[in-house]
Amino acid sequence: MNKENPQFGIIPPNYKPIPFTAEEIEKSRQQYLRRYPIPEGDYWTCFCGSHNTKNFCPECGRKAPDDWEVKP
Ligand SMILES: [Zn+2]
Repeated sequence: MNKENPQFGIIPPNYKPIPFTAEEIEKSRQQYLRRYPIPEGDYWTCFCGSHNTKNFCPECGRKAPDDWEVKP
């Protein structure tokens, strides 16, 4: 199951640029993973670097990818 950054290829019409480079996002993603390890496939990775298990990112409010389903 590869849910690694599935939304990077999708730019929503109301996309607002976030001042992060891909490098910074990856760095913050790695830091986040170290602090909050989540099993692979049980989350989606937001543009802001946050790993989320809900339909919306709590950090920036971005919606989860269309193929994401909230686990019970
Ligand atoms: Zn976010």
